[in-house]
Amino acid sequence: MSNLRKVLIIGGGPAGLTAAIYAARANLKPVLIEGMQPGGQLTITTEVENFPGFPDGVMGPELIDHMHRQAEKFGTEFIMGTVQNLDLSQRPFTLDVDGETIRTETLIVATGATARLLGIPGESELMGYGVSACATCDGFFFKGKEICVIGGGDSAMEEANFLTTFASKVTLVHRREAFRASPIMVEKVRQNPKIEFMLNAIPLSFKGDPSGSGLEGLEVKDAQSGEVRVLKVDGAFVAIGHTPTTQLFKDVLDTDENGYLICQGRSTATNIPGVFAAGDVADHHYRQAITAAGSGCAAALDAQHFLDLNS
Ligand code: NAP
Repeated sequence: MSNLRKVLIIGGGPAGLTAAIYAARANLKPVLIEGMQPGGQLTITTEVENFPGFPDGVMGPELIDHMHRQAEKFGTEFIMGTVQNLDLSQRPFTLDVDGETIRTETLIVATGATARLLGIPGESELMGYGVSACATCDGFFFKGKEICVIGGGDSAMEEANFLTTFASKVTLVHRREAFRASPIMVEKVRQNPKIEFMLNAIPLSFKGDPSGSGLEGLEVKDAQSGEVRVLKVDGAFVAIGHTPTTQLFKDVLDTDENGYLICQGRSTATNIPGVFAAGDVADHHYRQAITAAGSGCAAALDAQHFLDLNS
């Protein structure tokens, strides 16, 4: 099949969409494959207050919609689908997307990351029955209820604050006393009268019955005294970080010990010439919409430069 592209982008978050805007404006006619949850993590967030250019803040889905329309305006072709297989052993690279074969001169991987789970008993059984990994998606179901948020990073702080819109009380459960979250976010939580901290609390299991009352509590162990107790809650939000979406590239692209793609030096180049990585899939450190967008721009410029030298 002669479906040959110059630039193919996998992922429709800020990294992929910014790469698409730049590649389209360079006349490279990019095709962007967006998965079943187009827009990435920004579509499940609320207000974004730190993306430059929006002094009054912007809702995550709206920001994504702006980027999408901008990429489309300059000629990006969007395919909604899943990449099932790929062959990066020679150029052009080959990808199977829901039964269709697409060949491409360069590939930009912007597949992002997904929420990490605790892996404790009851978590998978009660997921959707009181346990959630997405405050924006599920917060509404806990109007007037007592809930907890697990984690000590910015995500946990942000979600705890957001959830007080619905919940009568939010307990922030964290396994240490010190926070990974930025001081300003912690302070916001401290100032919120609906939030209580439960520190040095290690989650052991979720209690409840998925076919009955749903979640009833979170069993925790005090890290100092060893005392085990159950925090009674109707809802629990797991906010302990993310895992990069790199399964598709296992043993093909170089990753670090946590599965994040490794780029060469300050570029977005991976270990395979012509394959570039942008956004959270290659960034366990900054993980911001703006840094993802910036690296998407860099990946498009790197791809353009690569094509100039290799076409
Ligand atoms: P994170 O900074 O990696 O924090 C994860 C938290 O979960 C840590 O407090 C960690 O505890 C805890 N944790 C991890 N595994 C656990 C386990 N098995 N049991 C109990 N607790 C566990 O992740 P994040 O909060 O998602 O933030 C990631 C990045 O996104 C950061 O750079 C952050 O600044 C950024 N972010 C920014 C904003 C914003 O600015 N609006 C919002 C969200 C995220 P320990 O501390 O003990 O390891």
